[in-house]
Amino acid sequence: MTAATTAPKTPRISFEFFPPQSLEASFRLWDTVRALAPLAPSFSSVTYGAGGTTRDLTHEAVATIHKNYGLNVAAHLTCVDATREETLKIANSYAEVGVKEIVALRGDAPKGADKFTRHPEGFADACELIEALADIGKFKIRVGAYPEPHPDAPNAQADVDWLKRKIDAGADSAITQFFFEADTFFRFRDRCEKAGIDAPIIPGILPIQSWAGTQRFAARCGTSVPSWVADAFEKAERDDRTELLATSLCTELCSELIDGGVEDLHFYTLNRPERTRDVCHALGITPEASLENVA
Ligand code: FAD
Repeated sequence: MTAATTAPKTPRISFEFFPPQSLEASFRLWDTVRALAPLAPSFSSVTYGAGGTTRDLTHEAVATIHKNYGLNVAAHLTCVDATREETLKIANSYAEVGVKEIVALRGDAPKGADKFTRHPEGFADACELIEALADIGKFKIRVGAYPEPHPDAPNAQADVDWLKRKIDAGADSAITQFFFEADTFFRFRDRCEKAGIDAPIIPGILPIQSWAGTQRFAARCGTSVPSWVADAFEKAERDDRTELLATSLCTELCSELIDGGVEDLHFYTLNRPERTRDVCHALGITPEASLENVA
């Protein structure tokens, strides 16, 4: 008797990069893009520095990834420190180089401020930016979502209600902040479903590069760190095996998400290819598998 086998599901993947601010960082970005492009991401996104500090660098990186590597790029855009006219000019400059996707964000406080304040002639919030981009009609619009409520949200329900307003304003899909446990995502997905959100919600996955850096990042964006994860890293640091732990935890998280019906994963690469590539390989996403999917 032969047991019935079901082929493991391979998810669609996408990658986030950030624009380089030095020559050395440029080399690292291009090495990363070159290493990950053969995995055939459905899109690659490029972040936009706080307060528009990387405006030109983001544009350059977006245009190069699109033109030289043939990847579908989603350019991040925020409302911070710019008039409506300036912001839409940037969006149109992306359209001119063939970019068809934008990750539309309100953004954080500019340097020196403790909370987001609109520019006197700028967009007041993400919904206003989304509506204006939808009016242009040239872009697929992605937005941010927060499985653990955003620090500015009064509670979890208000956060989901705001996400619904962003979708209703014209967004096509959402990418989440990173999180450590699949249940955190599943509970959020349930809340979204209940609120009538039917747009795809793509989990944002952080393959951990540095445990100290990850803890700082988590504290800044309100991601809770389960004690079992902190304990595991503490032990792994003693035995000098944090890389192995990071890869296996991330692979396990992705597998649980896939088992729970997730079809897309968005990797925060931090412009380092190794961990993301290893996790993708462990999930069965290889250059060969990508070619088979295309054929
Ligand atoms: P929103 O979702 O619009 O607002 C955040 C929360 O505040 C909401 O969830 C809601 O609870 C509340 N809120 C805001 N406005 C209102 C309102 N008018 N009424 C009621 N509630 C409201 N930052 C960068 O600077 N550059 C980037 O490239 C970048 N990329 C990101 C990519 C992703 C996938 C994610 C998840 C975040 C990214 N960020 C980036 C961080 C982001 O800018 C911050 O989290 C910012 O504080 C919120 O931006 P948002 O568009 O998600 O905000």
